[in-house]
Order: sequence, then structure tokens, then C-alpha cells
Amino acid sequence: MKAVDSHCHLDFEQFDEDREEIIKDAEKQLEFIVVAGSNLEHNKAALELERNYKSVKANLGLHPTYTESFNQLERIKTQIREEDPVAVGEIGLDHHHVEDEEIRERQEEVFREMLELAEELEKPVVVHSRDAEARCVEILDSYDLPGVFLHCFNGEPKLAKEAVEKGMKIGVTTQILYSNRVQNIVDSLNSEDLLLETDSPFLYRGERNQPVNVLESAEKIAEIKETDEETVIEDTTSNSRAIFLR
Ligand SMILES: [Zn+2]
Repeated sequence: MKAVDSHCHLDFEQFDEDREEIIKDAEKQLEFIVVAGSNLEHNKAALELERNYKSVKANLGLHPTYTESFNQLERIKTQIREEDPVAVGEIGLDHHHVEDEEIRERQEEVFREMLELAEELEKPVVVHSRDAEARCVEILDSYDLPGVFLHCFNGEPKLAKEAVEKGMKIGVTTQILYSNRVQNIVDSLNSEDLLLETDSPFLYRGERNQPVNVLESAEKIAEIKETDEETVIEDTTSNSRAIFLR
């Protein structure tokens, strides 16, 4: 079985010079790659990548830090209805970048509207929860969704366990290679609870990240869980398939 990069942003300008090469390279080594949308324009770019490359799956969403795009909410909901993506994302809450109470409230409204749409359309969701992990899990618990992927989870290991018990899956980025926090989260979970992701171009020791780097994460997770890489890849790819290839 091959690994999956369950979350990246290959539409970003950091890949303008060599996007084709990066995707071709990933296609050789991975089963598929999921490109998450951030707003109307990025969603369009993700869809275009999906049309051009068989290995790319597009998610359409409205990123919680794209506060200047919140006025696109209705248009993005229409876009999701029309384009029928494999999942709704990325959506969520970010209390790290957004400190203003009023904007946080608006962020939560946008998140809930997107969750309502996902529930209605029976689509899985891809959730960004930076410094708002507990609130995200609490909100998500009140919706009936066919899958929840807590992307780049950096909350408490205890909360990760609670989320898993509610049927949610935990995204492990390439932060696993250097972050004690993420290593502790992985240590407290089973590989059946996880998805591999890079969040490219971010989260690779300050260098530009790319999808094939999930293979390094698989190696590191195997080391932490005292198992072999193949098991980690089998478990995480099964989870990615269950969410994105329904
Ligand atoms: Zn992301």
C-alpha cells in the first residue's frame, strides 16, 4: 500500500515554479494527494489541479484565518453544491491568529454554516483548530457528519483521545519530525487513529514542504509506536480512503 498526503496547499505560489514536477514526483510515490481550499479563488485553483491530475483530490472550504474572505461565504456554499467536492475544508477556528472577540464570533458563525452544509450534503470535513481545539471538538460533536479530520492537531493528547472516541481522525503533519508536542500526541494514540499530511508548503523545519515527505513522517511514527512503516502506511491510508474516497 502507498501513503497519502491528506492535506496540502499545492495551489500556493510557493509551487508556481515547479508544481508539475512536485505532483509528478508525488504521483510516483503516493496513492493520492488532497489539496485543501482556503477561499473562493483557492478553491477554484484546487479544482483545477484535480481536473489536471488524477492523483489530486480537492477539498473546498473557507479557512478561518482568511477573515477578509468571510464575505464570500454564500458564494462558496454555492460553489460546494455545484462542484460536489470529496470533502468540505479547510474550515474551523483559529484563536492563534485571530484575537478580536467579534471576529472570533464571526469565525464561529462561518464554521457552523459550513458544518451545516456538510451535514446536509453528507460530506466529511477537514478542520483547522489552532489554539481552539477543545471548542472545535465540542462544536463538531453536535453535527452528524460522515467523517471528521482534525488537520494538524496540536491540542492536548487527552483531547485527541476524546476526539478519537467520538470517531474523529487526527492529522499528523511533518511536525512529527521535530515537535515534542506532536510526538506526544502520536505516542498517546494508535496508528488507526491517524492520517498523514504535510500541509505543504508549510511545516518542514522552515524549508518548503512537499507531499512525498509524508514518508518521513511514517518512518518517525513507526519508531514512536515501535511498529513498522508498512503498518503505519496501511492504517493511515485506510483512514484517508474512508474519508476522501467514499
Ligand atoms: Zn492547511
